[in-house]
Amino acid sequence: MTKQFTVAIIGGGIGGLTLAAGLLKRNIPVTIYEAAPLFQEVGLGLSIGPAAHRALPLIEPALRRIYDSLITTHADSPGFERFRETWCEVVTPDDQVLMELKARPSGQTTVRRADFLDALVALIPPERAEFGKRLVRLVEGDEGVRLEFEDGTTAHADVVIGCDGIRSTVKRFVLSEEEHARATPRYSGMYGYRTVLDMPDMVAAVGEHRARVTTLYLGKGVYGVSYPIARAQQANVGLYVLRKEWEGEEWVRPAGKEDLRRDFAHLGGFVQGLVDHMPDSQQWAIFEHPSISTYARSRVAILGDAAHASTPHMGAGAGQAIEDAHVLVELLGDPRVMRARDVVAAFKAYDAVRRPRSQRVVTSSKEQADLLCLCLDGVGADEDKLRGAFEERLRWLWDGDVVGEVERDPVMLGFSSRQDERLELARTLGATHTVTTAAVADRGQSLADVVREVTGVWAPR
Ligand SMILES: Cc1cc2nc3c(=O)[nH]c(=O)nc-3n(C[C@H](O)[C@H](O)[C@H](O)COP(=O)(O)OP(=O)(O)OC[C@H]3O[C@@H](n4cnc5c(N)ncnc54)[C@H](O)[C@@H]3O)c2cc1C
Repeated sequence: MTKQFTVAIIGGGIGGLTLAAGLLKRNIPVTIYEAAPLFQEVGLGLSIGPAAHRALPLIEPALRRIYDSLITTHADSPGFERFRETWCEVVTPDDQVLMELKARPSGQTTVRRADFLDALVALIPPERAEFGKRLVRLVEGDEGVRLEFEDGTTAHADVVIGCDGIRSTVKRFVLSEEEHARATPRYSGMYGYRTVLDMPDMVAAVGEHRARVTTLYLGKGVYGVSYPIARAQQANVGLYVLRKEWEGEEWVRPAGKEDLRRDFAHLGGFVQGLVDHMPDSQQWAIFEHPSISTYARSRVAILGDAAHASTPHMGAGAGQAIEDAHVLVELLGDPRVMRARDVVAAFKAYDAVRRPRSQRVVTSSKEQADLLCLCLDGVGADEDKLRGAFEERLRWLWDGDVVGEVERDPVMLGFSSRQDERLELARTLGATHTVTTAAVADRGQSLADVVREVTGVWAPR
Protein backbone atom coordinates (compact mmCIF):
# COMPACT_ATOMS: atom_id res chain seq x y z
CA MET A 1 0.00 0.00 0.00
CA THR A 2 1.18 3.52 -0.74
CA LYS A 3 2.44 5.42 2.27
CA GLN A 4 0.35 8.41 3.22
CA PHE A 5 3.23 10.70 4.07
CA THR A 6 6.02 12.53 2.28
CA VAL A 7 9.60 12.83 3.54
CA ALA A 8 11.90 15.84 3.12
CA ILE A 9 15.59 15.01 3.55
CA ILE A 10 17.74 18.03 4.30
CA GLY A 11 21.30 17.52 3.03
CA GLY A 12 22.65 15.13 0.43
CA GLY A 13 25.89 13.84 1.95
CA ILE A 14 26.58 10.15 2.51
CA GLY A 15 23.88 10.00 5.20
CA GLY A 16 21.16 11.77 3.22
CA LEU A 17 21.78 9.88 -0.02
CA THR A 18 21.96 6.48 1.68
CA LEU A 19 18.71 7.21 3.47
CA ALA A 20 17.03 8.43 0.28
CA ALA A 21 18.08 5.30 -1.62
CA GLY A 22 16.59 3.08 1.10
CA LEU A 23 13.32 5.02 1.36
CA LEU A 24 12.87 5.10 -2.43
CA LYS A 25 13.47 1.34 -2.51
CA ARG A 26 10.48 1.05 -0.14
CA ASN A 27 8.35 3.34 -2.36
CA ILE A 28 8.34 6.16 0.18
CA PRO A 29 8.05 9.59 -1.47
CA VAL A 30 11.22 11.58 -0.80
CA THR A 31 12.64 14.96 -1.79
CA ILE A 32 16.23 15.91 -0.96
CA TYR A 33 16.96 19.61 -0.38
CA GLU A 34 20.68 20.31 -0.69
CA ALA A 35 22.29 23.68 0.02
CA ALA A 36 25.11 23.25 -2.51
CA PRO A 37 24.59 23.62 -6.26
CA LEU A 38 25.28 19.90 -6.68
CA PHE A 39 26.05 16.79 -4.61
CA GLN A 40 29.74 16.93 -3.78
CA GLU A 41 32.44 15.38 -1.60
CA VAL A 42 36.15 15.93 -1.24
CA GLY A 43 38.42 13.31 -2.79
CA LEU A 44 39.92 11.83 0.37
CA GLY A 45 39.58 8.21 1.46
CA LEU A 46 36.74 6.78 3.49
CA SER A 47 36.71 3.43 5.20
CA ILE A 48 33.66 1.63 6.48
CA GLY A 49 33.81 -0.98 9.24
CA PRO A 50 32.19 -4.42 9.16
CA ALA A 51 28.91 -3.45 10.89
CA ALA A 52 28.12 -0.62 8.48
CA HIS A 53 29.29 -2.83 5.61
CA ARG A 54 26.71 -5.41 6.68
CA ALA A 55 24.03 -2.71 6.95
CA LEU A 56 24.52 -1.43 3.38
CA PRO A 57 22.68 -4.22 1.50
CA LEU A 58 19.94 -4.23 4.13
CA ILE A 59 19.20 -0.62 3.21
CA GLU A 60 19.31 -1.25 -0.54
CA PRO A 61 21.27 -4.09 -2.19
CA ALA A 62 22.62 -1.69 -4.84
CA LEU A 63 24.44 0.26 -2.10
CA ARG A 64 26.62 -2.71 -1.21
CA ARG A 65 27.22 -3.52 -4.88
CA ILE A 66 28.32 0.06 -5.46
CA TYR A 67 30.54 0.15 -2.41
CA ASP A 68 32.13 -3.20 -3.20
CA SER A 69 32.73 -2.22 -6.82
CA LEU A 70 34.73 0.82 -5.68
CA ILE A 71 36.72 -0.58 -2.81
CA THR A 72 40.41 -0.90 -2.41
CA THR A 73 41.57 -3.77 -0.23
CA HIS A 74 44.98 -5.04 0.73
CA ALA A 75 44.55 -7.73 -1.93
CA ASP A 76 44.79 -5.01 -4.61
CA SER A 77 48.54 -5.07 -4.01
CA PRO A 78 50.02 -8.23 -5.55
CA GLY A 79 51.83 -10.22 -2.87
CA PHE A 80 49.69 -8.75 -0.06
CA GLU A 81 46.63 -11.00 -0.52
CA ARG A 82 47.31 -12.56 2.88
CA PHE A 83 46.24 -9.25 4.47
CA ARG A 84 42.74 -9.47 2.94
CA GLU A 85 41.07 -9.73 6.38
CA THR A 86 43.41 -7.26 8.08
CA TRP A 87 42.12 -3.93 9.33
CA CYS A 88 45.58 -2.60 10.10
CA GLU A 89 48.96 -3.18 11.63
CA VAL A 90 49.82 -1.11 14.66
CA VAL A 91 53.39 0.19 14.79
CA THR A 92 55.24 1.50 17.86
CA PRO A 93 57.19 4.79 17.92
CA ASP A 94 60.40 2.82 17.28
CA ASP A 95 58.89 1.23 14.15
CA GLN A 96 58.15 -2.24 15.56
CA VAL A 97 54.89 -4.00 14.63
CA LEU A 98 52.92 -4.23 17.89
CA MET A 99 50.00 -6.20 16.46
CA GLU A 100 47.91 -7.03 13.44
CA LEU A 101 44.22 -6.25 13.87
CA LYS A 102 41.80 -8.38 11.85
CA ALA A 103 38.31 -7.17 10.87
CA ARG A 104 36.67 -10.22 9.38
CA PRO A 105 35.48 -10.92 6.79
CA SER A 106 36.07 -7.77 4.79
CA GLY A 107 39.24 -6.42 6.37
CA GLN A 108 40.08 -2.80 5.64
CA THR A 109 38.06 -1.52 2.70
CA THR A 110 38.34 2.03 1.49
CA VAL A 111 36.72 4.12 -1.20
CA ARG A 112 37.42 7.57 -2.55
CA ARG A 113 34.62 9.55 -0.92
CA ALA A 114 33.83 11.45 -4.11
CA ASP A 115 33.53 8.20 -6.12
CA PHE A 116 31.16 6.69 -3.56
CA LEU A 117 29.01 9.81 -3.45
CA ASP A 118 28.85 10.03 -7.26
CA ALA A 119 27.67 6.43 -7.43
CA LEU A 120 25.05 7.05 -4.73
CA VAL A 121 23.74 10.00 -6.72
CA ALA A 122 23.05 7.68 -9.63
CA LEU A 123 20.48 5.87 -7.45
CA ILE A 124 18.44 9.04 -6.94
CA PRO A 125 16.09 10.12 -9.76
CA PRO A 126 16.95 13.77 -10.63
CA GLU A 127 13.41 14.96 -9.89
CA ARG A 128 13.90 13.82 -6.26
CA ALA A 129 16.59 16.43 -5.51
CA GLU A 130 16.55 20.22 -5.34
CA PHE A 131 19.81 22.16 -5.19
CA GLY A 132 20.73 25.58 -3.90
CA LYS A 133 18.15 25.03 -1.12
CA ARG A 134 19.74 26.04 2.16
CA LEU A 135 17.21 25.42 4.92
CA VAL A 136 16.95 28.25 7.44
CA ARG A 137 13.80 27.36 9.39
CA LEU A 138 11.22 24.66 10.03
CA VAL A 139 7.67 25.39 11.20
CA GLU A 140 5.44 22.51 12.26
CA GLY A 141 1.67 22.86 11.94
CA ASP A 142 -1.33 20.53 11.97
CA GLU A 143 -0.82 19.72 8.31
CA GLY A 144 2.87 18.92 8.46
CA VAL A 145 6.11 20.87 8.33
CA ARG A 146 6.88 24.04 6.36
CA LEU A 147 10.47 24.33 5.15
CA GLU A 148 11.86 27.83 4.66
CA PHE A 149 14.98 28.30 2.54
CA GLU A 150 17.59 31.03 2.37
CA ASP A 151 16.48 31.95 -1.17
CA GLY A 152 13.04 32.93 0.15
CA THR A 153 11.21 29.88 -1.18
CA THR A 154 9.25 27.38 0.93
CA ALA A 155 8.25 23.74 0.65
CA HIS A 156 6.03 21.36 2.59
CA ALA A 157 6.50 17.81 3.85
CA ASP A 158 4.73 15.53 6.28
CA VAL A 159 7.99 14.56 7.97
CA VAL A 160 11.55 15.89 7.85
CA ILE A 161 14.89 14.16 8.38
CA GLY A 162 17.90 16.41 8.86
CA CYS A 163 21.06 14.97 7.31
CA ASP A 164 22.66 18.39 7.21
CA GLY A 165 25.98 17.65 8.86
CA ILE A 166 27.79 18.83 11.97
CA ARG A 167 26.43 22.41 11.71
CA SER A 168 22.86 21.16 11.32
CA THR A 169 20.00 23.63 11.05
CA VAL A 170 17.40 20.91 11.63
CA LYS A 171 18.96 20.14 15.03
CA ARG A 172 17.84 23.59 16.13
CA PHE A 173 14.22 22.47 15.69
CA VAL A 174 14.70 19.14 17.45
CA LEU A 175 16.29 20.58 20.61
CA SER A 176 15.09 23.19 23.07
CA GLU A 177 16.72 26.59 22.70
CA GLU A 178 18.79 26.05 25.87
CA GLU A 179 19.98 22.63 24.83
CA HIS A 180 20.79 23.82 21.33
CA ALA A 181 22.94 26.58 22.76
CA ARG A 182 24.94 23.92 24.64
CA ALA A 183 25.10 21.54 21.66
CA THR A 184 27.29 23.47 19.27
CA PRO A 185 30.22 21.46 17.84
CA ARG A 186 33.32 21.68 20.01
CA TYR A 187 37.03 21.40 19.32
CA SER A 188 38.05 17.87 20.34
CA GLY A 189 41.60 18.69 21.49
CA MET A 190 43.30 17.47 18.34
CA TYR A 191 44.26 18.76 14.92
CA GLY A 192 45.54 16.90 11.91
CA TYR A 193 47.40 17.05 8.61
CA ARG A 194 45.91 15.07 5.73
CA THR A 195 47.10 14.23 2.26
CA VAL A 196 46.97 11.67 -0.55
CA LEU A 197 50.32 10.41 -1.90
CA ASP A 198 50.86 8.54 -5.15
CA MET A 199 51.97 4.99 -4.37
CA PRO A 200 55.57 5.41 -5.65
CA ASP A 201 55.97 8.39 -3.27
CA MET A 202 54.40 6.39 -0.45
CA VAL A 203 56.77 3.48 -1.06
CA ALA A 204 59.70 5.92 -1.09
CA ALA A 205 58.44 7.35 2.22
CA VAL A 206 57.84 4.17 4.24
CA GLY A 207 58.85 1.17 2.13
CA GLU A 208 56.75 -1.36 0.24
CA HIS A 209 55.14 -3.16 3.18
CA ARG A 210 54.06 -0.11 5.17
CA ALA A 211 52.80 1.58 2.01
CA ARG A 212 50.65 -1.41 1.04
CA VAL A 213 49.25 -2.39 4.46
CA THR A 214 47.04 -0.05 6.46
CA THR A 215 49.05 1.21 9.41
CA LEU A 216 48.46 3.03 12.67
CA TYR A 217 51.65 4.75 13.87
CA LEU A 218 51.61 5.21 17.67
CA GLY A 219 53.39 8.15 19.28
CA LYS A 220 53.52 10.12 22.50
CA GLY A 221 50.93 12.89 22.05
CA VAL A 222 50.62 12.26 18.30
CA TYR A 223 49.66 9.45 15.94
CA GLY A 224 49.49 8.67 12.23
CA VAL A 225 47.42 6.54 9.91
CA SER A 226 47.95 5.46 6.31
CA TYR A 227 46.01 3.18 4.01
CA PRO A 228 45.98 2.34 0.32
CA ILE A 229 43.20 3.83 -1.83
CA ALA A 230 42.41 3.96 -5.56
CA ARG A 231 43.17 0.27 -6.15
CA ALA A 232 46.46 0.79 -4.32
CA GLN A 233 47.61 3.44 -6.79
CA GLN A 234 47.57 6.00 -3.97
CA ALA A 235 47.70 6.15 -0.18
CA ASN A 236 45.67 8.27 2.21
CA VAL A 237 47.76 9.74 5.04
CA GLY A 238 46.65 11.46 8.24
CA LEU A 239 48.95 12.74 10.99
CA TYR A 240 47.26 13.94 14.19
CA VAL A 241 48.44 16.01 17.14
CA LEU A 242 46.93 16.37 20.63
CA ARG A 243 46.66 20.03 21.54
CA LYS A 244 44.27 21.44 24.11
CA GLU A 245 43.52 24.79 22.50
CA TRP A 246 42.64 25.79 18.95
CA GLU A 247 42.96 29.51 18.40
CA GLY A 248 40.63 31.38 16.08
CA GLU A 249 37.31 30.74 14.40
CA GLU A 250 38.52 28.89 11.30
CA TRP A 251 38.51 25.08 11.35
CA VAL A 252 41.39 24.90 8.83
CA ARG A 253 44.57 27.00 8.81
CA PRO A 254 47.73 27.08 6.69
CA ALA A 255 50.80 25.28 7.98
CA GLY A 256 54.29 24.61 6.70
CA LYS A 257 56.82 21.84 6.68
CA GLU A 258 58.46 23.24 9.81
CA ASP A 259 55.18 22.72 11.73
CA LEU A 260 54.98 19.12 10.58
CA ARG A 261 58.62 18.49 11.47
CA ARG A 262 58.22 20.03 14.92
CA ASP A 263 55.06 18.09 15.72
CA PHE A 264 56.49 14.69 14.75
CA ALA A 265 60.22 15.12 15.49
CA HIS A 266 60.11 12.45 18.24
CA LEU A 267 58.70 9.65 16.06
CA GLY A 268 60.53 6.88 14.22
CA GLY A 269 61.66 6.50 10.63
CA PHE A 270 58.29 5.66 9.10
CA VAL A 271 56.65 8.87 10.23
CA GLN A 272 59.77 10.88 9.35
CA GLY A 273 59.44 9.42 5.85
CA LEU A 274 55.81 10.52 5.67
CA VAL A 275 56.69 14.00 6.91
CA ASP A 276 59.43 14.29 4.26
CA HIS A 277 57.00 13.37 1.49
CA MET A 278 53.95 15.30 2.63
CA PRO A 279 53.46 18.54 0.78
CA ASP A 280 53.23 21.71 2.86
CA SER A 281 49.93 21.09 4.44
CA GLN A 282 47.01 22.65 6.23
CA GLN A 283 46.13 21.96 9.84
CA TRP A 284 42.55 20.72 10.29
CA ALA A 285 40.96 21.21 13.69
CA ILE A 286 38.97 18.12 14.63
CA PHE A 287 35.52 18.93 15.96
CA GLU A 288 32.96 16.68 17.60
CA HIS A 289 29.40 16.82 18.79
CA PRO A 290 28.42 16.96 22.47
CA SER A 291 25.83 14.34 23.41
CA ILE A 292 22.25 15.52 23.02
CA SER A 293 19.08 14.28 24.71
CA THR A 294 17.14 13.26 21.60
CA TYR A 295 17.47 12.70 17.86
CA ALA A 296 13.79 13.39 17.16
CA ARG A 297 10.97 15.71 18.02
CA SER A 298 7.48 15.09 16.71
CA ARG A 299 7.71 14.79 12.90
CA VAL A 300 11.37 15.81 12.64
CA ALA A 301 14.48 13.67 13.16
CA ILE A 302 18.23 14.08 12.62
CA LEU A 303 20.75 11.58 11.30
CA GLY A 304 24.51 11.22 10.84
CA ASP A 305 26.80 14.11 11.73
CA ALA A 306 23.76 16.31 12.41
CA ALA A 307 23.07 14.10 15.44
CA HIS A 308 26.43 12.70 16.52
CA ALA A 309 29.46 14.00 14.60
CA SER A 310 32.47 12.10 15.82
CA THR A 311 36.22 12.54 15.64
CA PRO A 312 37.72 10.32 12.91
CA HIS A 313 39.91 8.16 15.15
CA MET A 314 37.78 5.01 14.83
CA GLY A 315 36.92 5.58 11.17
CA ALA A 316 33.27 5.29 12.10
CA GLY A 317 31.43 8.57 11.38
CA ALA A 318 30.01 7.69 7.98
CA GLY A 319 29.41 4.14 9.17
CA GLN A 320 27.23 5.49 11.96
CA ALA A 321 25.25 7.59 9.45
CA ILE A 322 24.73 4.38 7.44
CA GLU A 323 23.54 2.50 10.53
CA ASP A 324 21.14 5.38 11.31
CA ALA A 325 19.81 5.22 7.77
CA HIS A 326 19.27 1.51 8.07
CA VAL A 327 17.18 1.83 11.22
CA LEU A 328 15.09 4.62 9.74
CA VAL A 329 14.36 2.83 6.46
CA GLU A 330 13.40 -0.36 8.32
CA LEU A 331 11.07 1.56 10.61
CA LEU A 332 9.48 3.83 8.00
CA GLY A 333 9.20 0.92 5.57
CA ASP A 334 7.35 -1.19 8.14
CA PRO A 335 3.77 -1.93 6.99
CA ARG A 336 2.45 -0.60 10.32
CA VAL A 337 3.83 2.84 9.51
CA MET A 338 1.41 4.35 7.04
CA ARG A 339 0.65 7.88 8.27
CA ALA A 340 2.71 10.77 9.57
CA ARG A 341 1.56 10.10 13.12
CA ASP A 342 2.96 6.55 12.87
CA VAL A 343 6.26 8.10 11.86
CA VAL A 344 6.30 10.05 15.13
CA ALA A 345 6.33 6.71 17.00
CA ALA A 346 8.93 5.29 14.62
CA PHE A 347 11.16 8.33 15.22
CA LYS A 348 10.99 7.65 18.97
CA ALA A 349 12.08 4.07 18.42
CA TYR A 350 14.88 5.29 16.13
CA ASP A 351 16.05 7.63 18.86
CA ALA A 352 15.90 4.86 21.49
CA VAL A 353 17.99 2.37 19.53
CA ARG A 354 20.44 4.67 17.80
CA ARG A 355 21.38 7.24 20.43
CA PRO A 356 23.28 4.98 22.87
CA ARG A 357 25.48 3.35 20.26
CA SER A 358 26.20 6.42 18.16
CA GLN A 359 26.99 8.56 21.22
CA ARG A 360 29.25 5.83 22.48
CA VAL A 361 31.13 6.06 19.18
CA VAL A 362 31.71 9.78 19.81
CA THR A 363 33.19 9.25 23.29
CA SER A 364 35.02 6.10 22.31
CA SER A 365 36.53 7.73 19.24
CA LYS A 366 37.92 10.50 21.40
CA GLU A 367 39.39 7.95 23.83
CA GLN A 368 40.83 6.13 20.82
CA ALA A 369 42.91 9.24 20.10
CA ASP A 370 44.34 9.00 23.62
CA LEU A 371 45.03 5.29 23.09
CA LEU A 372 46.87 6.04 19.84
CA CYS A 373 48.75 8.88 21.52
CA LEU A 374 49.86 6.50 24.32
CA CYS A 375 48.08 8.44 27.04
CA LEU A 376 44.85 6.56 27.65
CA ASP A 377 44.24 6.18 31.39
CA GLY A 378 45.21 2.72 32.58
CA VAL A 379 46.93 1.81 29.30
CA GLY A 380 49.60 4.41 28.49
CA ALA A 381 52.47 2.84 26.54
CA ASP A 382 52.15 -0.65 28.09
CA GLU A 383 52.29 -2.95 25.07
CA ASP A 384 50.18 -5.77 26.51
CA LYS A 385 47.49 -3.36 27.58
CA LEU A 386 47.62 -1.63 24.20
CA ARG A 387 47.00 -4.94 22.40
CA GLY A 388 44.03 -5.75 24.63
CA ALA A 389 42.59 -2.27 24.35
CA PHE A 390 42.69 -2.23 20.54
CA GLU A 391 40.87 -5.56 20.32
CA GLU A 392 38.28 -4.69 22.91
CA ARG A 393 37.56 -1.16 21.70
CA LEU A 394 36.99 -2.09 18.09
CA ARG A 395 35.21 -5.44 18.53
CA TRP A 396 32.07 -3.89 19.99
CA LEU A 397 31.92 -1.48 17.07
CA TRP A 398 32.46 -4.10 14.38
CA ASP A 399 31.03 -7.36 15.64
CA GLY A 400 27.80 -6.58 17.47
CA ASP A 401 25.04 -8.77 16.08
CA VAL A 402 21.85 -8.99 18.06
CA VAL A 403 20.19 -11.07 15.36
CA GLY A 404 22.59 -13.85 16.21
CA GLU A 405 21.90 -13.38 19.91
CA VAL A 406 18.17 -13.54 19.43
CA GLU A 407 18.36 -16.51 17.10
CA ARG A 408 20.59 -18.43 19.44
CA ASP A 409 18.41 -17.88 22.46
CA PRO A 410 14.96 -16.46 21.74
CA VAL A 411 13.81 -17.49 25.21
CA MET A 412 16.05 -14.83 26.70
CA LEU A 413 13.62 -12.23 25.47
CA GLY A 414 11.29 -13.64 28.08
CA PHE A 415 8.05 -12.30 26.66
CA SER A 416 4.95 -14.32 27.37
CA SER A 417 2.54 -12.33 25.20
CA ARG A 418 2.90 -11.11 21.62
CA GLN A 419 6.29 -12.78 21.62
CA ASP A 420 6.26 -13.42 17.89
CA GLU A 421 5.61 -9.81 17.10
CA ARG A 422 8.22 -8.57 19.52
CA LEU A 423 10.72 -11.10 18.31
CA GLU A 424 10.13 -10.00 14.74
CA LEU A 425 10.70 -6.42 15.73
CA ALA A 426 13.80 -7.31 17.69
CA ARG A 427 15.09 -9.08 14.62
CA THR A 428 14.33 -6.08 12.43
CA LEU A 429 16.06 -3.71 14.77
CA GLY A 430 18.80 -6.20 15.51
CA ALA A 431 19.57 -6.58 11.84
CA THR A 432 20.66 -2.99 11.99
CA HIS A 433 23.45 -3.90 14.42
CA THR A 434 22.35 -1.04 16.59
CA VAL A 435 21.18 -2.85 19.69
CA THR A 436 24.49 -4.60 20.07
CA THR A 437 25.27 -6.65 23.09
CA ALA A 438 27.98 -4.18 23.95
CA ALA A 439 25.60 -1.25 23.72
CA VAL A 440 23.28 -3.15 25.99
CA ALA A 441 26.03 -3.79 28.50
CA ASP A 442 26.96 -0.13 28.31
CA ARG A 443 23.51 0.82 29.53
CA GLY A 444 23.63 -1.73 32.30
CA GLN A 445 20.53 -3.40 30.92
CA SER A 446 19.76 -6.83 29.57
CA LEU A 447 18.92 -7.33 25.93
CA ALA A 448 15.35 -8.07 27.00
CA ASP A 449 15.17 -4.70 28.81
CA VAL A 450 16.32 -2.84 25.75
CA VAL A 451 13.99 -4.63 23.38
CA ARG A 452 11.09 -4.11 25.76
CA GLU A 453 11.95 -0.46 26.03
CA VAL A 454 12.18 -0.12 22.29
CA THR A 455 8.95 -1.94 21.62
CA GLY A 456 7.29 0.12 24.32
CA VAL A 457 7.83 3.35 22.44
CA TRP A 458 7.42 1.71 19.12
CA ALA A 459 3.82 0.60 18.76
CA PRO A 460 2.13 3.02 16.33
CA ARG A 461 -1.18 4.31 17.62
C1 LIG B 1 39.35 13.80 8.77
C2 LIG B 1 38.12 12.95 8.72
C3 LIG B 1 38.23 11.60 8.34
C4 LIG B 1 37.10 10.77 8.35
N1 LIG B 1 37.24 9.47 8.01
C5 LIG B 1 36.18 8.64 8.11
C6 LIG B 1 36.31 7.26 7.79
O1 LIG B 1 37.37 6.76 7.39
N2 LIG B 1 35.21 6.45 7.96
C7 LIG B 1 34.02 6.95 8.38
O2 LIG B 1 33.05 6.17 8.52
N3 LIG B 1 33.85 8.28 8.65
C8 LIG B 1 34.90 9.12 8.53
N4 LIG B 1 34.75 10.43 8.81
C9 LIG B 1 33.42 10.95 9.21
C10 LIG B 1 32.50 11.13 8.00
O3 LIG B 1 33.16 11.92 7.04
C11 LIG B 1 31.19 11.82 8.39
O4 LIG B 1 30.70 11.21 9.57
C12 LIG B 1 30.14 11.67 7.30
O5 LIG B 1 30.60 12.21 6.09
C13 LIG B 1 28.85 12.40 7.71
O6 LIG B 1 27.91 12.34 6.68
P1 LIG B 1 26.58 13.18 6.78
O7 LIG B 1 25.81 12.85 5.54
O8 LIG B 1 25.93 13.01 8.08
O9 LIG B 1 27.02 14.71 6.74
P2 LIG B 1 27.80 15.55 5.63
O10 LIG B 1 28.67 14.68 4.81
O11 LIG B 1 28.42 16.70 6.34
O12 LIG B 1 26.66 16.09 4.65
C14 LIG B 1 25.81 17.15 5.02
C15 LIG B 1 25.13 17.71 3.76
O13 LIG B 1 24.12 18.64 4.14
C16 LIG B 1 24.24 19.83 3.37
N5 LIG B 1 23.71 20.93 4.19
C17 LIG B 1 24.27 21.46 5.30
N6 LIG B 1 23.46 22.42 5.81
C18 LIG B 1 22.36 22.47 5.03
C19 LIG B 1 21.18 23.26 5.05
N7 LIG B 1 20.95 24.19 6.01
N8 LIG B 1 20.24 23.06 4.08
C20 LIG B 1 20.43 22.12 3.11
N9 LIG B 1 21.56 21.35 3.04
C21 LIG B 1 22.50 21.53 3.99
C22 LIG B 1 25.72 19.94 3.07
O14 LIG B 1 25.97 20.74 1.93
C23 LIG B 1 26.10 18.47 2.85
O15 LIG B 1 25.90 18.06 1.52
C24 LIG B 1 35.84 11.29 8.77
C25 LIG B 1 35.73 12.66 9.10
C26 LIG B 1 36.85 13.47 9.10
C27 LIG B 1 36.70 14.92 9.49
